[in-house]
Amino acid sequence: MKKYMYLLLVLMTMITSCDTQKKAIIMAQPQIVEKNLDQPTKKAKNIIFMVGDGMGITQISSGLYSNNNQLHLERINTIGLHKCYAYDDLITDSAAGATAFACGIKTYNGAIGVGPDTIPVQTILEEAELKGLKTGMIATSTIDHATPASFAAHNKYRKNYEEIVLDFLDSGCEILIGGGQKSFDRREMDDRNLTKEFTKNGYTVVSHVDKTINEIDMTAVEKLLYYTADSSPLPAAQGRDYLKPASELSINHLNKNNEDGFFLLIEGSQIDWGGHANDANMIITEMIDFDNTIGAVLDFAEKDGNTLVVITADHETGGFAIQKGSKLNDLKTEFTSDYHTADLIPVFAFGPGEEDFNGIYENTELYHKMRAAFGWGSK
Ligand code: MG
Ligand code: ZN
Repeated sequence: MKKYMYLLLVLMTMITSCDTQKKAIIMAQPQIVEKNLDQPTKKAKNIIFMVGDGMGITQISSGLYSNNNQLHLERINTIGLHKCYAYDDLITDSAAGATAFACGIKTYNGAIGVGPDTIPVQTILEEAELKGLKTGMIATSTIDHATPASFAAHNKYRKNYEEIVLDFLDSGCEILIGGGQKSFDRREMDDRNLTKEFTKNGYTVVSHVDKTINEIDMTAVEKLLYYTADSSPLPAAQGRDYLKPASELSINHLNKNNEDGFFLLIEGSQIDWGGHANDANMIITEMIDFDNTIGAVLDFAEKDGNTLVVITADHETGGFAIQKGSKLNDLKTEFTSDYHTADLIPVFAFGPGEEDFNGIYENTELYHKMRAAFGWGSK
């Protein structure tokens, strides 16, 4: 009997380790905390983290060559590359990609602010709130979409939108700007009216139906929830133009009478959607819209001197390439995929602490580098 128990134990161990091996196909789970991160040479008061979803090198190149060979991104001299793969897949999705930035961990595709075990992990935005900084999130997707969601929510699955916005309710986040009003006030999982509940929690809630971003009077506003669309906002090519003014409004608001600093996430969400649709014009117009916003952010950071701007993507989308026969402002392009690819992803950093962002490193290192720039030490 004892012998059989032993055999059973051995067999179980084999099965478990087999399973672990399968899960950990790629993962060496490198958690290399690089030198000097404990004592950054300079400390950033504010961090503006900008994600161009699906923005690989070719997406940037196509924007550049379709915009008379100039982008605001060229104003940045510190450039690195990150390895974007997920915990269990060389090809990441936006949920695992954003969770790596927000929490410093590799996780499975679809995970929102949770580890491979589905257990919540504190995000840099949540830590900023706890430390008394102001925070904000702006997206050109719905605000409950994977990228912003991973910074202020914890969910085992990215499409649980109505659960995700419930996490926002207690986030303390001073600025929430994006589409997806229906997850707040026309819910299927319950009858709650989150527009009312956010108002009760100190938010001024405004819909795009009533006011454009420029028409919002911020003088008496403490926290702002602005719905830019009922579901997904329009593409830039169809007239969506709020990302730059929303970023300027948010920076002004977060910086006003604020000694403690802020963390702001700005996402150009739809570069990715152009890749999925194999639509080069959509990629280019979204890229230029995102770059115009980068210009406004850099204008502030240059003047302020205490703000670190970090710009990157979660992954490339489309296996996008610029082909022979292309001319300046007239590109011939091809796609090899309608999904994400495993390309190394560029990182652009400007401001105090930018030198830590040189080199090639894991996507999770962005989390550690940003914490270090805030002077929070290693974790
Ligand atoms: Mg996204
Ligand atoms: Zn995508």
